[in-house]
Amino acid sequence: MIRSGSCLDFRRFTNFPNLLMRFATHKSPRPFLNNLPKLSLITSPKSILSERPRPLHDNASSESDSSSNELIGSQAANPPLLPQPEVLAELAEHSQRLETATPEEILEWAIDRYGDKFTMATAFGPEGMTILEMLSRISPKTWVFNLDTGYQFPETLALRDKVAELYGIEVELLRPELTVFAYEKLHNGPLYKSNPTQCCGDRKLTVLKKAAKGMHAWASAIRRDQSPDRSVAPIIGWDKKFHLVKISPLANWTKTQVWNRIVQSNIPYNPLHDSGYTSIGCWPCTRAVGLGEDERAGRWSGTGKTECGLHTQE
Ligand code: SF4
Repeated sequence: MIRSGSCLDFRRFTNFPNLLMRFATHKSPRPFLNNLPKLSLITSPKSILSERPRPLHDNASSESDSSSNELIGSQAANPPLLPQPEVLAELAEHSQRLETATPEEILEWAIDRYGDKFTMATAFGPEGMTILEMLSRISPKTWVFNLDTGYQFPETLALRDKVAELYGIEVELLRPELTVFAYEKLHNGPLYKSNPTQCCGDRKLTVLKKAAKGMHAWASAIRRDQSPDRSVAPIIGWDKKFHLVKISPLANWTKTQVWNRIVQSNIPYNPLHDSGYTSIGCWPCTRAVGLGEDERAGRWSGTGKTECGLHTQE
């Protein structure tokens, strides 16, 4: 049975026939991942699901929120956490100290320090899946959410249920206020074609801002070697855009280290990676990459855009 709103509900994908056509006709080069052994998924699901109370926000976001003067992130927390000089100095000190720590040690520090005001956003990429496996061993009640733009691949959304089944972490799907249908109607067509920056702003950044309200810290799955934008990411830093401490446990890991861990620990991953999709976001803005292309070359290809804005500070 197809449940409304579930990852199996393909009716939510207004362009799903086009998507099927894309898959049917797509002949992607198969880069290094094809040389990895096929993974078998873990077969003994944990039954203990997260009982952590959700933060006080609703599962929707208004497109107008991004322009409001409301308190955001840790400004709205109880107690609030503000980027005073001594706070920033302490974060820098911890970041330096944790440069040689394992990702698990970094996560343990974050959970110990921020407790239930620590959260994580995931797009179910290989790095995110790796962190989720770590969290399942360290703090499975951590509140984790996905920015469900309405344009994600079905393969991506299917990982949400896999994570709940295997790791006991129920990733919450947070959606913009407007459905894809209403949003495209409002803008006389898909905005990802004419103004992808606004589309990412409305369907990702605004939703994250609302989710982050009242939290102190969030984990990201970025690696420094992914792009010039990410090359300067600290392990622990202050995210002024979302007004949170930002923790990047995999900042100094390489792609090879991530995939080694996935193979060693039987961590499930998006099957599109086997078809040349090295970095996966929304389907309209993602293509498979060819041999020798940059890992993120398939994101917003041909537009000049390289980031959705979640991990940039401008
Ligand atoms: S990645 Fe593309 S479809 Fe997704 S929110 Fe950004 S512009 Fe819109």
